[in-house]
Amino acid sequence: MYDGTYLVMTSIVLALMLAAGWQGLVTEFHWWYLLLLPLATHAQILCSVFIHNCSHGNFPRPINRLVGELCGIVVLTRYASWEIIHRRHHKYSDDPDQDPHPITPDAAGYWPFVKKTIVNVEVQLQRQFFELHGGDTPENRRFERRRAYTSYATNLVLIACWYVFLGPIGFFVFFVPASLIGFLHLMHFNWSTHNAMKPEEGFFPVNLDRGYFWLGNRIWFGIYYHGYHHKQANLFNPMHYEAYQQARAARKQAKVSPPAAPPA
Ligand SMILES: [Zn+2]
Ligand SMILES: [Zn+2]
Repeated sequence: MYDGTYLVMTSIVLALMLAAGWQGLVTEFHWWYLLLLPLATHAQILCSVFIHNCSHGNFPRPINRLVGELCGIVVLTRYASWEIIHRRHHKYSDDPDQDPHPITPDAAGYWPFVKKTIVNVEVQLQRQFFELHGGDTPENRRFERRRAYTSYATNLVLIACWYVFLGPIGFFVFFVPASLIGFLHLMHFNWSTHNAMKPEEGFFPVNLDRGYFWLGNRIWFGIYYHGYHHKQANLFNPMHYEAYQQARAARKQAKVSPPAAPPA
């Protein structure tokens, strides 16, 4: 229903743009546009940061889902698939069979991890369906295949919408490079924050805040404090985990021991 609705809506938007003779948002090329590419990439990555926060309900309730859906259109996966996969990641973190993107000794390097994740995400989406709806039956397999093809078709129409909306120049100068870099960044995030750089210690969520990660934490709401994020997912910026815990402990303490009576 979800993918089908998106398929119908994106098809209508595409047809309307074509019927209206829409010329595209960017109609001519200037070399200085390339200077804007880092900004476009930053915006793309922020959409991933925000969709992640939405999947934990970290935006105000009335706008949480809306922000998630809008970001899902930008990052192309759409919100629901993102949420299902990410919740599964929290439930089965680092489980080689159940986590959608575990680092495993046979694919511990960055590129093998990327390759494995691309295949595994679809497998885990299917498995989630089987677990919820009566197991791995021929009927469920048929349903899942239909769901997957609807989802791929929706992706193609959505990409076509972006192409027509931005115009060929906007699409190839901004959207395609920002999406590719954003995707590889997301993979690098999933990989590095589960201790990929120290395989001898094993794979588990860690906090990173040196060098490149220091900068990343300041511009992307503390995303590399991933160890803390796995401890408490409802913080918009997990960099503030310790301050939050201290404030909570202080509040508890204040409740247990009421302030001393003023001296007579
Ligand atoms: Zn994680
Ligand atoms: Zn999370």
